Amino acid sequence: MTDTTTTPCWVLTNRDGEDFDDADGVPHFPTQEKAAGWAVNLTDAWNPRQLSHTCVTVTCTCCQYAYDEDEDGLAHFADMAEAEKALADYWSFAGGQARCDACTAGPCDPERGDHG
Ligand SMILES: [Zn+2]
Ligand SMILES: [Zn+2]
Ligand SMILES: [Zn+2]
Repeated sequence: MTDTTTTPCWVLTNRDGEDFDDADGVPHFPTQEKAAGWAVNLTDAWNPRQLSHTCVTVTCTCCQYAYDEDEDGLAHFADMAEAEKALADYWSFAGGQARCDACTAGPCDPERGDHG
């Protein structure tokens, strides 16, 4: 299952048009104010820029785990193809149904809340 953000996210970009990128990837913000507020802590000048597209987030169809809420926060992808490519080593996407690594390995017993 994938969800699509309702409005395009904001990212931070510098004078050279490069998007801010840390070890965890490019941070996305829901509003211009949030992006600008976060950029205050950075040493260089980064300006909020709104993306031209909405993002997709990926949730396991089986256990409802949203990638990557336990680690780096909810990951945003440009589209489903990019999400599948990024997660191909861990998740499965058979028949349009996203399944997390634990559920892909199985067995799951959704009645008891057991996954993987
Ligand atoms: Zn986003
Ligand atoms: Zn799962
Ligand atoms: Zn499961």
